[in-house]
This record gives sequence, structure tokens and C-alpha cells, in this order.
Amino acid sequence: MSAYEVNRISMGMVNAYLVKTEKQLFLIDTGLAGKQSIARIEAACGRMGRSVGDIDMILLTHTHHDHAGGAAECKSRSAAPILLHKDEAEVLRFGISGFPAGTNSLVRFMVAVAKKRQKGGTPFPPAEADIVIDSDLDLHNYGFPGVAVPTPSHTAGSLSLLTDWGDCFCGDILFNIFPGTVFPPVADNPEALTSKWSLLLERGAKLFYPGHGGPIERQRVERELQRRA
Ligand SMILES: [Zn+2]
Repeated sequence: MSAYEVNRISMGMVNAYLVKTEKQLFLIDTGLAGKQSIARIEAACGRMGRSVGDIDMILLTHTHHDHAGGAAECKSRSAAPILLHKDEAEVLRFGISGFPAGTNSLVRFMVAVAKKRQKGGTPFPPAEADIVIDSDLDLHNYGFPGVAVPTPSHTAGSLSLLTDWGDCFCGDILFNIFPGTVFPPVADNPEALTSKWSLLLERGAKLFYPGHGGPIERQRVERELQRRA
């Protein structure tokens, strides 16, 4: 049995996660900006016998607005430090999330339409990162039972959080919303995705918790890797 509890906070299309250890509470991603996200995070904290004010650290898998939108509010309510990859820090500081590239023709078309409508990107409340990393970081010193692993692909600073028990919070480098595939519909560097999946499998990931959709068993990722090889 693992020494922590995982709570998936489903916010419509996107997930955030809470990881509760005996003493601490970690929030992975924060949903869209706005009252609804914070209410769902608060409710999830409540189910774990805690509140948003008890969050000890906010870990961002990347800074697309649907993952980092609630970061400023969560930080101001909890005074928790925000951890992210250095290549995401500027986006969070300015609160403008750019458009990722589509990985298929339909999504490329949809992204082009969105870009026309909202030039420059999607704004969200800015926040300052506190722990900025550019290589693996052992998180045990912070009380988190695992390691942060840079997995640049979906964005330049995509980060995965891998626990000692093989739970892997991987943000948008895997998607679980389309039948038959876990390949993300958007990625800045789609060619890099499969090598990052392989890296996480080699490092012992057993169950992936993606930013969109339910958990993904490692066997499913292995099958998709074989198919794409
Ligand atoms: Zn994303």
C-alpha cells in the first residue's frame, strides 16, 4: 500500500490532482481560472479532511491556461510555493498561454480558428513560480513521495511527477479522451512524445494520471508505443 492518497479533481474537460501524505497536501495543476475550479479544489480538499489553505505545494505539469489558470488563486489562498519547469516560468509570470500545434489536420484547423479569434493566446491570472527546475528533482525533501521529471514534448517545459509507487502525473503528454489512442491532439513537439513515454516507463511508471480523462495503465502506453514503432 502506498503512503499517500490520490484524489482526481475532474473539472469538466480537465483534471487536477491532490496527493495527500500523512502530513502534507500537494496540488498538481489547478484547472481554468475562475470560481468553479477553486470550488472543486476546495471540495476535493474537504473530502480529504483538509482545505485549500492546507496545500503545501502547487506543482504544474505545464502552463496551458486550463492547467495553470487557477495557480494564482490557489497560491494566494495557501501561500504554497509553485513548482514548475524553467521553460514555463515566463508564461506563468505574464499569464498568457499560447496555442499548441495540432497533431492532426482537424485539430490544426481548430487551432487556426482559435488563433484568429484570440490573437496572442489565452489570458489567465499571472503568478510567480517559486521552485523552478530544469532537470530531475528529487521531491522527498519537500515531503512529496517521488521525483519531478522533465518530459518536454507537449510544451517546452512539460513536467511529469512520478511517485515511488509508480503513479505518474503526466499532464498532457498523454490524453485519455479519445477511444483507441492516448496520443495528444496538441503538442509543440509531437515527435518527442513517445520517447518521453518510454522514459517514464523505464523509470517505473505503472499508472498514468493525464490532464484529460481517466487513468491510463502502463500496458496501454506500451501497446501504443509498439503500434507507433
Ligand atoms: Zn496542455
